[in-house]
Amino acid sequence: MTQHQFDPSSFTNALTRQWQRFGLRDAREMTRTQWWQALSGALAESVAEQPAVTAPTSAPQRHVNYLSMEFLIGRLTGNNLLNLGWYNGVNDVLSTFDVTLSDILERETDPALGNGGLGRLAACFLDSMATVGQPAIGYGLNYQYGLFRQRFVDGAQHESPDDWQRDRYPWFNHNAALNVQVGLGGKIIKENGESRWQPAYQLLGEAWDLPVVGYQNGVTQPLRLWQAKHAQPFDLSRFNDGDFLRAEQQGIDAEKLTKVLYPNDNHQAGKKLRLMQQYFQCACTLVDILRRHHQAGRTIETLPDYEVIQLNDTHPTLAIPELLRLLLDEHQLSWDQALKITQRTFAYTNHTLMPEALECWDVRMVRSLLPRHMMIINTLNAQLKQQVDAQWPGDEAKWAKLALVHNNQLRMANLCVTGGFAVNGVAALHSKLVVQDLFPEYHQLWPQKFHNVTNGITPRRWINQCNPALSALIDKTLQKPWINDLDALKALENYADDAAFRAEYRAIKQQNKEELARWIAARTSIHVDPNAMFDVQIKRLHEYKRQHLTLLHIIALWQTIVSDPQANRVPRVVLFGAKAAPGYYLAKNIIYAINKVAETVNNDPRVGDRLKVVFIPDYNVSVAERLIPAADLSEQISTAGKEASGTGNMKLALNGALTIGTLDGANVEIAEQVGSDNIFIFGHTVEQVSALKAAGYAPQTWRKKDKQLDQVLKALENGTFSNGDTEAFESLLHSIGPKGGDPYLVLADFRAYLEAQAQAEALWSDQDAWTRAAILNTARCGMFSSDRAIRDYQHRIWQASR
Ligand SMILES: *Cc1c(COP(=O)(O)O)cnc(C)c1O
Repeated sequence: MTQHQFDPSSFTNALTRQWQRFGLRDAREMTRTQWWQALSGALAESVAEQPAVTAPTSAPQRHVNYLSMEFLIGRLTGNNLLNLGWYNGVNDVLSTFDVTLSDILERETDPALGNGGLGRLAACFLDSMATVGQPAIGYGLNYQYGLFRQRFVDGAQHESPDDWQRDRYPWFNHNAALNVQVGLGGKIIKENGESRWQPAYQLLGEAWDLPVVGYQNGVTQPLRLWQAKHAQPFDLSRFNDGDFLRAEQQGIDAEKLTKVLYPNDNHQAGKKLRLMQQYFQCACTLVDILRRHHQAGRTIETLPDYEVIQLNDTHPTLAIPELLRLLLDEHQLSWDQALKITQRTFAYTNHTLMPEALECWDVRMVRSLLPRHMMIINTLNAQLKQQVDAQWPGDEAKWAKLALVHNNQLRMANLCVTGGFAVNGVAALHSKLVVQDLFPEYHQLWPQKFHNVTNGITPRRWINQCNPALSALIDKTLQKPWINDLDALKALENYADDAAFRAEYRAIKQQNKEELARWIAARTSIHVDPNAMFDVQIKRLHEYKRQHLTLLHIIALWQTIVSDPQANRVPRVVLFGAKAAPGYYLAKNIIYAINKVAETVNNDPRVGDRLKVVFIPDYNVSVAERLIPAADLSEQISTAGKEASGTGNMKLALNGALTIGTLDGANVEIAEQVGSDNIFIFGHTVEQVSALKAAGYAPQTWRKKDKQLDQVLKALENGTFSNGDTEAFESLLHSIGPKGGDPYLVLADFRAYLEAQAQAEALWSDQDAWTRAAILNTARCGMFSSDRAIRDYQHRIWQASR
């Protein structure tokens, strides 16, 4: 495939059309924000004019439809420039206007259409599919408000709406020819003995496309985001969906459906509006897939030969009964034919084992919105029961676990396993636990459905774009393409013992840290020493991720420094970035506690530059791009068995941060790749966690036998960090105390965590040894490219012999 060619004169013409649209007489009259608008608009136009190259879709290469409720894409303009190979060309054109490209790129607000890792994974996969030539469309929703903006008021999280101005986002291409009608509610009527759905309401789905540009290969493919409009007068208030709609007294209409992204990560809320969003996405998407299939002159029976539908977690599960309904009711196929086609089309990615995150929907709610779908699900459930009865006659316990519908709850994960041909976990350990703990019975029924595909990250954004200095050093050193062949980084191993290379590598890290320190000062007024160890924990705030374990370590460090102010210490800056779901009270209390401890520590004159704690507000993709290249230590400390994979761990290791982490998710594979000398592994393993819990875990016994732990907890209890308020951290202390039971074993891992931190400090004291280890992390993280993950999906799932 050939590259997109940059033509300065046609780009300049496109740019001129853009500022003329603003009613200006000269490009120099544009504000910075207008420059970003104009630049992006001109680029979008140029990309759209290029011949739409997608790889051929003739069998046996199936086209991928990647369904996800979230795409956390981050800023597009800079990324597209790099992938197009136009960065320098555009930079030259702009400099003739005395405008700095990197300045302009800072004006873009992140399209934050996702919560965290799951949405970011979807974005990395789109980039990699375009890059490796896997024909694909991403399908999602065009939320008007992305994930809330976060700020701190006296240390507490406050949320405000994130209106990212989708109506003026220059990269969108809206195609009215793709409009879709979607029904909701209503009842089932009988026609000649056949059941048919007569919806009460109709919605209109509009297709808003963003271009996904492959890395310098001429490919662009769409990310298609559906936006709801009303087709007929439509009154959502009839569904009486609690707070969201109560807040709106009047003017309730279909457009509300794609107003907001639900802010929960790894937790399901069970709101009716959310179910409607899920169905709306699935219904629009299936019409679109079938329309393309028919336009290519193909019969419905051959659908699975050409199309695969990958479900990113269970959020788009309703696509399964929706396809069945279309095949049965619109195409008049038999049940057996319809089911066979469906089961050859869908594949499902599991992202969690945690019960509170496994989606279940109240059957009455589903029936009221989607009566025909519920009927189809019941038929499938009855058929599954026959199969289970044949396999395990009279075994009620087996059926209780396998049923699609149980205690009036529809279990989406079970529907996915039953309705598709493949199920995968997202790291080797996680996929093993999916089989062992979550679906052992399904695995007995259909062992061939189960796979592992370890997650990955796109090297385009997560090293080339965010760490240009390191990328340039790698270019210079390797003298060959590596950005779309990340295994090539292996050759850097030879340079780990080369003192000159180490000096260059370390100088780049130092520059990145100095830049970050300036940015932190501007953003938070806190001054940090760029020579200190930058200890980074960036991810959603969740008990299982254990930001509170890091907090206990900070308090222990502070107490040690204060008790012996003369002692030589490794200076450390602990950096957090994390949003808590607005309704997750404990998570918010942890944020508050971190901020209060930070206040005390940062203002303690005895401490000075030996310890600083900064909670960066409003963590998002752009913040991640700043922090990751400047990190020395990467905190990946979830309770073993709880983090499915993690991808932040991969981004940080690739950029030369050493991991301090548990044997959880992809940390296990990172440890295998980088070697045990170049990572700090600690804590209870999955097996040890189970054994501890089985024996009756009691956190207070761990507190009793560890004096330092006791002192740390006392300081949180006695108001040291909260002006004497002994209730300030009530929620946090309750959860890790005897009443809360410390479900994530924070106290049980405290001692081992402190020991691992001490090892990290010992290595830090030998800067040559540290840098060597950092280089080996960069050199050995090639397998965490999402290009590799996509090839695994191709070989194991999408294009496997059928
Ligand atoms: C990578 C990324 C995540 C995922 O981080 P984990 O540490 O894997 O949970 C979340 N949010 C943003 C903005 C990211 O870039």
